[in-house]
Amino acid sequence: MYGITAVKEKRMNLLGIDIGGTKTAVVVGNDKGQITASRRMPTPSDTIEHYRKRLVELCHEVLQQAGIPVSSVDAVGISAPGPLDCRRGVLIAPPNNPGWRDVPIVEMVQQSFAAPVFMNNDANACALAESYFGEHRGARNLVYLTFSTGMGGGIIMNGDLVQGATDTGGEVGHMILEAGGRLCGCGQLGCWEAYVGGRKVAEHLRETIRSGSVHTSIVEKAGGIDAINMQAFEAAAREGDRFALAEWDAFTERVAQGIGVLIMVLNPDVVILGTIGIHAGEFVMGPIRDKLPKYTWKWPLEACKVTASSLGGKIGELSALAVAASGLRHSKSVRQA
Ligand SMILES: [Zn+2]
Repeated sequence: MYGITAVKEKRMNLLGIDIGGTKTAVVVGNDKGQITASRRMPTPSDTIEHYRKRLVELCHEVLQQAGIPVSSVDAVGISAPGPLDCRRGVLIAPPNNPGWRDVPIVEMVQQSFAAPVFMNNDANACALAESYFGEHRGARNLVYLTFSTGMGGGIIMNGDLVQGATDTGGEVGHMILEAGGRLCGCGQLGCWEAYVGGRKVAEHLRETIRSGSVHTSIVEKAGGIDAINMQAFEAAAREGDRFALAEWDAFTERVAQGIGVLIMVLNPDVVILGTIGIHAGEFVMGPIRDKLPKYTWKWPLEACKVTASSLGGKIGELSALAVAASGLRHSKSVRQA
């Protein structure tokens, strides 16, 4: 079956590397987002040389598993946590690997492959995955948002990723929604991330519970006040815990405020929420949609679908393939120009 498909239509063979804080996934697939093989390994915090060696070995193992010779790989894509320098192919300071500074990861991987190696940050990579492989693939104007530990975003306008002058285009988590507001991890006051990023939300809940001697089932769901996280928060709110519900209302209000700004400024066809959108579904999407009319004009809002990602748990692997596909398409169009 695979052979027949391959004869009918030539697909690009792509190798994807999704570098996460604790795990690195290596995936082999094509430009349609079909995954042939994938494996994971821990992202160690020890020496970068050790990591490079193990990573290249794993790439070869996964290619072998997929039955793709190294010489048939058309492009390699790396999705990695920021901050990074896409042009130089350098990881500047990965948050979970304190020993790694200015790691020339693209050059390191390039040494083992003849195919071109491309890299982008994880949120931009996910936006590319949505635009190539997701339910709204082909949308010309798409915003992808991820509310995990921090808050990331990727913006595609007129079919192209918005990188900006210093690759910080799409860093929507650090637009300031409240002058002089909560302290963000980036050092600014009142960033969107300080109100909706998982780490900051948990911090806020802990402080509020402690200072007000609040009784809430969030603590028990989390297994202790220090272990409070978004899952415990959501679970308590779903069960109707009064404090959790009031905080959930405040949380979705801030999410809607930020999305409203993006809809007003960018006029996107679709805004896609990863992480919490996938996990919490309508419990989070419903209140956000209800609150959005307060934050944007009616007609760009009516033209915009605000929805949870359809790619679920596969988005990380697909994001690395999307970086490879995008790099290849872009470099071809540059050569043609
Ligand atoms: Zn910030």
